Amino acid sequence: MMKVASMLGKERITLSFEVFPPRNREGIESVEQAMREIAALQPDFISVTFGATGGRSEFTLPAVTHVQNMYHVPAIAHFTCVSSTRSEVHRMMSDLRDNGISNILALRGDIPEGNDYPMDYHYAYELIEEIRSFGGFCIGAACYPDGHPESRNMQEDIQHLKEKVDAGVDYLITQMFFDNNILYNYLYRIREKGINVPLVAGIMPVTNVKQIKRIRQLSGTYLPMRFKAMLDRFGDNPAAMTEAGIAYATEQIIDLIANNVNNIHVYSMNKPGVAARIKANLAEILEMGKVDDASDLTC
Ligand code: FAD
Repeated sequence: MMKVASMLGKERITLSFEVFPPRNREGIESVEQAMREIAALQPDFISVTFGATGGRSEFTLPAVTHVQNMYHVPAIAHFTCVSSTRSEVHRMMSDLRDNGISNILALRGDIPEGNDYPMDYHYAYELIEEIRSFGGFCIGAACYPDGHPESRNMQEDIQHLKEKVDAGVDYLITQMFFDNNILYNYLYRIREKGINVPLVAGIMPVTNVKQIKRIRQLSGTYLPMRFKAMLDRFGDNPAAMTEAGIAYATEQIIDLIANNVNNIHVYSMNKPGVAARIKANLAEILEMGKVDDASDLTC
């Protein structure tokens, strides 16, 4: 299966989705159904989170394998430092390799209260070094156009990003942002610092109040006035909020592609309906970006 980096940073427009694994056995069926429907949209790839939704992480690898081997969509497994010991990371890498999965998104994860985590890795770059030395994986990492909330300033954050990329990152996926100008400015700054790997823009269609609360907790993410007006006006009406959130995300994506940011990752999570509507809104634009560059499979 294709390594994700080989699709990125070119003329070709890519559209991909993030999903989360089941929290427990009872959730397997409904998550599989969502994944099947999202895979049927034929995204360029699907990424599966790890321990990010309060669930156990034992279902990430089975979900990744399921997506790729049942639906033939390239899949990315998220790994986090805070959820894994070194030996678990090695076991998971062997497991992925045995199942033909070659894409990992390497993250630190959010530090749990009381600092209660294995501590074999403190920052994502250490995990990246480990995966790189194991070999055979295409490695992605996270970046933050609004700055990571723990960083003192953007300069420091970009310096750490540079160290992380130099540890062996093949591409970056951004945290959600709601003002494209912030991304354009960020792109200028990271390229100026010699960070030249492809960047995938992460777009969150905000379709319900729960997400809004979470975004408000993400200190540092700039909310433009027109975004806030949308939340204030439609936040209490789920159907209206869904419509408005999809339209806002669509508009952001069209502007990004118009400005040659051709790789878009949508945080529609396990909502196939939202993913489908965004894809439908972009149908002709995606058609324009179909470029056959499958011959270049390097990572
Ligand atoms: P790092 O790159 O390690 O950076 C964390 C902080 O430490 C930053 O402030 C950075 O500037 C600083 N830093 C880095 N290196 C150093 C150093 N050497 N010295 C001092 N400071 C340093 N979380 C989950 O739990 N599961 C998921 O599946 C998940 N998926 C995600 C997917 C994407 C695309 C994104 C953008 C985020 C995701 N997250 C996920 C959230 C992520 O784990 C958190 O944002 C986390 O707080 C930071 O992770 P990181 O990999 O960017 O960390």
